[in-house]
Amino acid sequence: MSELILIDPGHGGKDPGGGSNQYWKEKDLVLKISLYQYKRFKELGYPVKLTRDKDVYLSPAVRTSIVKNSGAKYCISNHINAGGGDGVETIHSIYADDKLAKMLADAIVSEGQNLRRVFTRTLPYNSKQDYYYMHRDTGAVNTTIIEYGFADSKRDDVEQLLKQWENYAEAVVKAFCKHVGHPYKSPKKEEKKVKIQSQSKIDTNQILYLAQILHQEGEGTGKGKWALQQLKKELT
Ligand SMILES: [Zn+2]
Repeated sequence: MSELILIDPGHGGKDPGGGSNQYWKEKDLVLKISLYQYKRFKELGYPVKLTRDKDVYLSPAVRTSIVKNSGAKYCISNHINAGGGDGVETIHSIYADDKLAKMLADAIVSEGQNLRRVFTRTLPYNSKQDYYYMHRDTGAVNTTIIEYGFADSKRDDVEQLLKQWENYAEAVVKAFCKHVGHPYKSPKKEEKKVKIQSQSKIDTNQILYLAQILHQEGEGTGKGKWALQQLKKELT
């Protein structure tokens, strides 16, 4: 049986998130990413839930209790970074191995993003506790925080996130399916609109040539009559 994945769009409501800039608010971009992933897991027949599906504020206590009580085995917490770096980061709990976190980061890298780091962090005064509450207070749920890139990057993250967020979101879905052994299919691509070449393509050079003859010869001559006939053929 497939085990539930919970997708957590970070921030929301009165908390826009630090990974915001002139183009987006972190809470909105991570909601877009999360709703996309939710839709894709549904399509793939994998059990999925969201911590929020609209622009609402969830306090850390509420958010972690949703995660803890969701019955999920996995949680992916989607974020956009800030602080002037560049590249993707994934963060796993000190109580989880780095396998899934590495796979998710590698998947985003395979879509053109650069890797900043895959890491884990403890409280400064307690090496037995995770630094991030999404790890510390979410019980046995295997939570991975994904920072897709930096909102204030001096390099290419802003452009990449604007253009590639959907590919990064998809890469995470694909890598997760691989991790849990769930069959994966690429999303349906929009059918390419094939331009059907017109069968009755008008040959302008031929028309100009015939018109010139008609003009020079006039309708009275044999050559002129022929040119007129040919012209009618060309134009009907
Ligand atoms: Zn965030």
